[in-house]
Amino acid sequence: MNATSPAATAVATDQASALTAEDRCDRCGARAVTRAVLANGLDLLFCGHHLREYEDAIKAKDITLIS
Ligand SMILES: [Zn+2]
Repeated sequence: MNATSPAATAVATDQASALTAEDRCDRCGARAVTRAVLANGLDLLFCGHHLREYEDAIKAKDITLIS
């Protein structure tokens, strides 16, 4: 059984992962699958290809990935 509360899931979805078909990769314009939130509060959107390309650089910095 999954004990995740529906309320907690709704809050997380609301604030964090509201990526839609309108959200586009900042590098190539493909549909974004992940939002990278930088330590300074800026965020970048990445498609699957560019997420893989920048994954190592992202992991080396204080960047939060939201997908
Ligand atoms: Zn891209």
